[in-house]
Amino acid sequence: MVKLMRYDVAIIGGGPVGNYLANLLASEFKVVVLEAKNSFGGKACTGIMGAENYEKLNLPKEAIINKLRGAVFYSRIQSFEIERPTPQAYVVDRKLLERKLAENAIRHGAEYYMGARFLGFKNRKAIVQRFNEKFEIEADFYVGADGLNSKVAQEIGARTDAEFLSGYEVEVVGDFNRTDFVEIWVNKEINNEFFMWLAPINNFNARLGTFGTYDRLFRFLKLKLLKETNIVEIKAGNVGLGFRKPWVKGNIALVGDAALQIKPLTAGGIVYGMLCSHALRYSIRRGNLKMYEDLCKDIKKQISFGLRIRRLFKALNQDQIEKFFEIFSSDEAKNVIETYADFDDHKKTISAIVKNPKLLARGLRVFPMLLRYLV
Ligand SMILES: Cc1cc2nc3c(=O)[nH]c(=O)nc-3n(C[C@H](O)[C@H](O)[C@H](O)COP(=O)(O)OP(=O)(O)OC[C@H]3O[C@@H](n4cnc5c(N)ncnc54)[C@H](O)[C@@H]3O)c2cc1C
Repeated sequence: MVKLMRYDVAIIGGGPVGNYLANLLASEFKVVVLEAKNSFGGKACTGIMGAENYEKLNLPKEAIINKLRGAVFYSRIQSFEIERPTPQAYVVDRKLLERKLAENAIRHGAEYYMGARFLGFKNRKAIVQRFNEKFEIEADFYVGADGLNSKVAQEIGARTDAEFLSGYEVEVVGDFNRTDFVEIWVNKEINNEFFMWLAPINNFNARLGTFGTYDRLFRFLKLKLLKETNIVEIKAGNVGLGFRKPWVKGNIALVGDAALQIKPLTAGGIVYGMLCSHALRYSIRRGNLKMYEDLCKDIKKQISFGLRIRRLFKALNQDQIEKFFEIFSSDEAKNVIETYADFDDHKKTISAIVKNPKLLARGLRVFPMLLRYLV
């Protein structure tokens, strides 16, 4: 006989978002988390998260490994800096973040099954494989927090026309003197698919990454005069930029990467997934998942806006990017950016630039179709 277990909520996937949701629900509901891997972490992720949301979401301080208060943007031939007096983003240890969230959820009553892979639904029950044992879980609500290639999304027939990109990231040993600034490189001659980033961890280690091919990351490494033989860790993973629909079917919901709650401009997904977890908790408390998508409408707007900016990025050639860099490095633009820059609210930052008539006029001179992408 196959073992059957009963829960209020079954969360499939113990990544940062699944574990965060488990924290939100554990003291009120009988919660189980099913995680396919035997331990936490291991996913390709630079671990950059907006500091304001990190604090608001009350995430574990122990997982913060560096604090960033500024960014230097580089194009092929120029650069400009944006800085604030206080940290705007944190670099976190993903493994520790996931682990601490799981430990806290367990302390509040959640039950975890590590090494437990969700195989599919049968007769409204989740079928789970753990080593050579199969068991069934029956729950009032099922949540697919099982990442980009979500089996739960597949089971509910969710579809997407998102753009999928491969990402590569390395941790490298070198000399990094400005440890509170992230570097963002926008150079289509090196990578025409995405920007490249360097996030320092301390004076001796940094994470470099991009989306596209490993070769493009390798070229970026060379540009930074860093040696491939100084790499101590390589990770690869994918992101999906776009929408996956629906997020809900009956008593089953998707959250995090499973629902593609990812910022199209930076490919960061942890914060959006966690913000949507709050909407999901509210819907579960009300016993009705129908309101969940509506409660996430601000995140959906951010994703739509980010997709438009992504299309703009793709439409620009490097010479036009250089001209935009000239605009952004002007005192007027820097002032607007430094005042309105928000790590997780790209709409707010870009809208502030566009609302400045002088900056908009300059932008339109560089790219007359600009408004078509922004409005
Ligand atoms: C190169 C790269 C860099 C990135 N950098 C950043 C960054 O700096 N900041 C940021 O916010 N985001 C970043 N991201 C995106 C970020 O990694 C994701 O948005 C984030 O991991 C989403 O969390 P999640 O919990 O929804 O999904 P995941 O982290 O994918 O977790 C899903 C979990 O579900 C488990 N699982 C999968 N299938 C099953 C199954 N059938 N049964 C049971 N368990 C299952 C998996 O083992 C996994 O633990 C980056 C991504 C890449 C590729």
